[in-house]
Amino acid sequence: MVFGKVHILRGGFIDIDRSIFLTGTDIGKKIKAPVCSFVIMHKEGPILVDAGLNPDGLTDPEHAWGPRARLIKPELTEADDVRNRLKELELDVSDIKMVILTHLHWDHTGGLRFFTHCPVIVQKAEYRFAFNPDSFVSSQYMRNHFDFPVNYQLIEGDRIIVPGISVIKTSGHTPGHQSILIKPDNGNSYILSGDAMCLKDNLTLKIPSSNNWNNRQAMESIHRLGHLSELLKAEIISSHDTSTWECLIESL
Ligand SMILES: [Zn+2]
Repeated sequence: MVFGKVHILRGGFIDIDRSIFLTGTDIGKKIKAPVCSFVIMHKEGPILVDAGLNPDGLTDPEHAWGPRARLIKPELTEADDVRNRLKELELDVSDIKMVILTHLHWDHTGGLRFFTHCPVIVQKAEYRFAFNPDSFVSSQYMRNHFDFPVNYQLIEGDRIIVPGISVIKTSGHTPGHQSILIKPDNGNSYILSGDAMCLKDNLTLKIPSSNNWNNRQAMESIHRLGHLSELLKAEIISSHDTSTWECLIESL
């Protein structure tokens, strides 16, 4: 196991207006946005970041994804099920030593129920909010994705999780959003931004997504990640941006 190696787990696509990810830009332009999880190979064991779309949507989309089944039309295959992506890496669900969730939105928690055997790291602010979200963002939380016995470890703010892997609180998209900094002693450093930066263009154009809970905080988080990326020479991997997926794969 090489510490610091990051694998991307492809988890299907959602059909979405590009202006959702980039306020006021390309209104009406539909894109197929990727959904993904990551596995960080760490000496203490593999760490999963985010849990993708609910694979029940393969057979019962309305039940699994609610009204989004028609609006956003998630697309996934058997292979995109997080359990099957792990198998491709010759990993079993039970091999995962820890899950870190960037936030509790439906497209990041769909496979969480498979990981009840290990600690799940979430910001306390996110956990609290998910149970009582503000009405204008409530549809992004699906309680059946996260409200069951899970070994939640609730943290507040920035924290070193294991040597070389930290979480950075990046509020704005949600009240308790966090991004993951991977900084091994040797090898490439990365920032998995989660939805603090759905697209790399959020940083280059300095425009936040339009589905954020608080845009002022979201912009502060974007600037903070941009600064950390420069300071630490860590490449930002945006959550829903195909181009950054390709960077990640090439750099392995
Ligand atoms: Zn997302």
